[in-house]
Amino acid sequence: MSAAELTIGVLLPDVLGTYSDAGNAVILAKRAQWRGIPAQIHRITATTTPPAGCDIYLIGGGEDTAQLFAADWLGRQRTLRAAMAGRAVTLAVCAGLQILGSTMRDRSGHDHPGLGLLDLSTVAGPRRAVGEVVSSCLLPGVGTLTGFENHQGVTTLGPDQSPLGVVQSGTGNGTRGRHGHGEGAWSGRIIGTYLHGPVLARNPLLADHILQLATGRDLEPIDLPDLPALRRTYLA
Ligand code: GLN
Repeated sequence: MSAAELTIGVLLPDVLGTYSDAGNAVILAKRAQWRGIPAQIHRITATTTPPAGCDIYLIGGGEDTAQLFAADWLGRQRTLRAAMAGRAVTLAVCAGLQILGSTMRDRSGHDHPGLGLLDLSTVAGPRRAVGEVVSSCLLPGVGTLTGFENHQGVTTLGPDQSPLGVVQSGTGNGTRGRHGHGEGAWSGRIIGTYLHGPVLARNPLLADHILQLATGRDLEPIDLPDLPALRRTYLA
């Protein structure tokens, strides 16, 4: 974090964000503020020039047409892409995850370029994956992740690309790799997942991991009295 204030950029909330994925920004801001860290959310819409100095960038999910528009728009933002490849922390959900990969193949068999920030590619599968997902997160200290998925994309990771987690139930990426049945992808400061919820509302330890990456600080734990009850609801 360069300045005293944590800045969270929500990329294209007017285009991507089917399941209130922009709520991830609220979770990050609140959990920073509860620890005395000022935080501000910037909504970065398609008619603006995106600021390249945010500490955290968030990209949500969306319909196929919106996704291709977003991939094209993001692909033209070179300074932003460099920030995401460098010091910023990025969380991308569903269509956002697919956009961060190298290619996205649509239902007609056409390949569309992604940003190439994660080593993965996505094709449209034979059926939609819809429902609850539970995975074991590979990020240290995060534990079990839960969320809701709704996608047709099947994502294959490159040989050295780590998934974000290993699926316990649900579909996730829909492919197997060296960690088994993978969900999402993770590479340093870039995290991608199929989980909606918003994912950070349902998984506050993932939110704290992102905040620790962005601030460069060890953050003191916040009591999570509702978490066991929340987990029981979704794991039942
Ligand atoms: N359009 C993509 C798919 O169906 C992403 C869907 C989403 O973001 N929920 O795979």
